Amino acid sequence: MTLRRRVGVMGGTFDPIHLGHLVAANEVYYHLALDEVVFVPTGQPWQKADRAVTDPEHRYRMTLLGTAGSPFTVSRVDIQRAGPTFTVDTLRDLHSALDPVDLFFITGADALAGMHTWREPEALRSLAHMVGVTRPGHELGGDVPASATVLEIPALEISSTMCRERVAAGRPIDYLVPAGVAEYIRKYALYL
Ligand code: NAP
Repeated sequence: MTLRRRVGVMGGTFDPIHLGHLVAANEVYYHLALDEVVFVPTGQPWQKADRAVTDPEHRYRMTLLGTAGSPFTVSRVDIQRAGPTFTVDTLRDLHSALDPVDLFFITGADALAGMHTWREPEALRSLAHMVGVTRPGHELGGDVPASATVLEIPALEISSTMCRERVAAGRPIDYLVPAGVAEYIRKYALYL
C-alpha cells in the first residue's frame, strides 16, 4: 500500500513573510498532523490592482530566508509560471510533482472568503482541503467555504501591511519578521 503524504501548501504574497505566517504554518502542521508544509509565494497576484507588489524574486528570497531553520520548504511553482497566479494551477502543479499526496491549502481566512470568485472553485475543492487562518476575534467577511478548516492564530496580529507601513515610517520591524528578512529589507531598501 502506498502511503499518501499530507502536505500543507501555504499560499500567500509574502510581501514580506512575517512571524505570524510561521506560527500559522506551524499550528496547522500540528493540528492537522501534516508531514510537511511548503510555502508558495504568488507570482503575479491577479486581484491586486490596487497596489504595487514587490518583485517575485525578492519575495521568494525573503520567504527562503524566513523559513531557514524551520522544517518548512519553499516552492517556485507560482513564480516560474507565466501569467497571473491561479490557485487551481498551483495545486495541479504540486499534485503532478508530489502525487500520491493529500494537499491542504492554507491561507488567510479573508483571502479564502473570496474563493468563489477564483478560477474553477469546484476543481479547487477536489484538489485540496482548504484551511483558513485568522486572528482571534476577527469577524470573517465573505463566504469561507463550509468545508474549510478555520484556525485562530494569535500571532496574526502581525500583518505584511503593518510591516510595510512600519518600514515606510522608519519604525523597526525586528522581531516581527525573521532576522534575516529584516536585514534583507534593509539591504535592498524595500518598502521605503
Ligand atoms: P491577500 O488578499 O493579500 O490577504 C488577505 C489576508 O490574508 C491578509 O490579512 C493577509 O495577511 C492574509 N494572508 C494571506 N496569505 C496568508 C497566509 N498564507 N497565512 C496567513 N495569512 C495570510 O491574499 P493573497 O496573498 O493575495 O492570496 C492568498 C492566497 O490565495 C495566494 O496563494 C493566492 O494565490 C490565492 N488566491 C488565488 C486566487 C485565484 O486563484 N484566483 C485569487 C486570490 C488569491 P498578510 O498580508 O499578513 O499575509
